[in-house]
Amino acid sequence: MKRLILIPLALILLCCAPFLIFAEGETDRVQPAPVPEQAKQSVSAPFDTRTTLCVLTDGGVRKMSLEDYLVGTLLAEMPADFPAEALKAQAIASRTFALRKAETGKHIGADVCTDFACCQGWREDGTAEEIARITQAVCDTDGLVVTYEGALIDATFFSCSGGKTEAALAVWGSDIPYLQSVDSPGEEDAPRFTDTVIFSAEEFADQISKICPDANLSGSPVNWIGEISMTVGGGIDTVFIGGVAFKGTTLRSALGLRSTDMDFAVTDSEITVTTRGFGHRVGFSQYGAKAMADSGSDFAEILTHYYPGTEIKKLLCIKQSSFTSV
Ligand SMILES: [Zn+2]
Repeated sequence: MKRLILIPLALILLCCAPFLIFAEGETDRVQPAPVPEQAKQSVSAPFDTRTTLCVLTDGGVRKMSLEDYLVGTLLAEMPADFPAEALKAQAIASRTFALRKAETGKHIGADVCTDFACCQGWREDGTAEEIARITQAVCDTDGLVVTYEGALIDATFFSCSGGKTEAALAVWGSDIPYLQSVDSPGEEDAPRFTDTVIFSAEEFADQISKICPDANLSGSPVNWIGEISMTVGGGIDTVFIGGVAFKGTTLRSALGLRSTDMDFAVTDSEITVTTRGFGHRVGFSQYGAKAMADSGSDFAEILTHYYPGTEIKKLLCIKQSSFTSV
């Protein structure tokens, strides 16, 4: 079974030289291969319907068109009542994310999975109105992807940033030119813009001890938290707790917090942690996209804001051999 199938065959053969072929006039960096007249007629079919993905779902691997995959992904990843330009931006980000993920061959026997934490969410259930709005956004952006220097970007996205996105370097340790910290105003309406978690001193000490038994958490909690250094995106880079330095990302994971953008309020018996934003905060902010769309920005303005230095291009085809066959 082929994991990613592009039809017709003429297109597959056409794709054997460069990895990506973009539509003419859509690029000033990538020089597309000449497209024969016969192939030009073939590529008039929507890219998303002639591209097939093998998707690892809870019920096993399912083969589906990229269009069907993206409709299910948007149903799972963004509220369908978001403005049309935000939905289009999400469709382009999700298309880019999926095609790049398929290229990496992370999954055996599938191009992508439906786990939010690994690839992207996906679901089939939705109202007719939701499906119609999302399908429109997918179709309106058929074949469009986000590129940096001619390659698909790692189109990471998240719910809301708390006002400023985070750089990839601060979260994953890799400095990626298009994943830098940018302002993300207007997210205050997001249901998870801020969150407060109260830990008893014992609960907090237990969680910290699990990841570092060497932390000295004796005495009053007011003395436990020491020097804090911040990332450019407003998150905690490192924080000293009980004399031990913890990365903000480690602390977020250990305490089950929504974000590394956090403040502490400590008493003799409790540690209250207030977070801003939800998710890793790297890349495309969904509620930031909503705010930009509400202010009149289109999908291209939204995407190039959150992925600075990138370009939006229309894919004609992808080299089939870039995707592992099983
Ligand atoms: Zn996955």
